[in-house]
Amino acid sequence: MEILEIAEKTGVLFYRRRYGNGFRPHISMRIDGVDFHIDTSPGRGYNIITHAHTDHHGLRNIKNFRAIASCETSVILSAISGENFRGIVHEIGEKLEIKGIEIDTFPTSHMDGSSAYFFRDYGILVTGDVKRFEKLPECEILVTEATYGHPSNRFVDEIDRVVESARKGLELGAYPIGKAQRVARILASNDVGFRVEDERISKLCSVLGIEHEEGDARIIPPKKVVNGYVLSAQTFYRNRIVFSDHIDYRGIIELIDHCSPSYVIFYHGNPTRKLLQDAESMGTRSLTLKDVNVHL
Ligand SMILES: [Zn+2]
Ligand SMILES: [Zn+2]
Repeated sequence: MEILEIAEKTGVLFYRRRYGNGFRPHISMRIDGVDFHIDTSPGRGYNIITHAHTDHHGLRNIKNFRAIASCETSVILSAISGENFRGIVHEIGEKLEIKGIEIDTFPTSHMDGSSAYFFRDYGILVTGDVKRFEKLPECEILVTEATYGHPSNRFVDEIDRVVESARKGLELGAYPIGKAQRVARILASNDVGFRVEDERISKLCSVLGIEHEEGDARIIPPKKVVNGYVLSAQTFYRNRIVFSDHIDYRGIIELIDHCSPSYVIFYHGNPTRKLLQDAESMGTRSLTLKDVNVHL
C-alpha cells in the first residue's frame, strides 16, 4: 500500500475526504498535524488553490481565511465572483510559512496566477495544471495533472496562426478564464489590435492590466465562433488552431523526467494505463486517486 509507504518515508499522509457516497474533489495531505487540501472545497486546515479555473474550486474558497492562492489567482477569483478573496495571498516565487511549514512557490504558466507549491522539507511538489515545467524543482513526490494523459495527445501550439488570423480580423474563440488573456497578451506583444466583447474576458484583461490597441480581430468564447477559429488542443472542434494551456502526453513524461520523483500521484485529469506504465518504466511509482485509499 503505497500511501502508507509514502507516509513512512516522508511523514506526510495523503488522503481523501469522504463526502456522501464518494469523496470531496482531488486530494488532501496531513503534514506535521496540519492539513492541506488541494483544489477542493474548504476543509479543516488550509486550502491550496493552484489556479483560478473553476474545476479547481477556488470560488468555493472565496470566503475561506485559510485558503492559499497567488495574488493573480485571488484577483481573478474576486473579479469573477464579485466578492473579495479573503485568504492568504503570495507572489509566485515567494516562500510561505504556514504553522512552521515552509512552502516554496513556482510558476507553471498554465494561466495567469497558476502556481506550484513545494514542501521542500518533505520533498513534495504539488503542481496544479502545467504548461511549462522548466522552473519546477526536483522532488521526491510529484502531485500533478494528466489532462492529456492519453498517448494520442501530441500537439504543438500554433502561435503564428493565432497572430496571422488576428491580422486578418478573424474571430478567435478562447476559454474566457486564462486562455483569452494569454491570446490577448500574444496579440498585444505582436502589435495586433483586437476587440473583446465578452464581459468576463474584458473584465479579466482589465484587472490583469492587459492593454491593447483596437482592431478587427475579436477574442470571444469558443461557442460564439462563426467566422474564425477555436483555439484548443481538443480535436472535436472543426475550425481550430492548436493552442493549449496544458502540456501534451510527451510533456507529462518530460515533466516527470525533469522532477525525477520516486512517486508521482496524478490527482487531476485522465491518467491512462499507458501513462502509468511509462512512468513506471522510468523508475517512478505511479498512482492515481484510486490508489489514495486512506479515507478520512
Ligand atoms: Zn486549469
Ligand atoms: Zn484543470
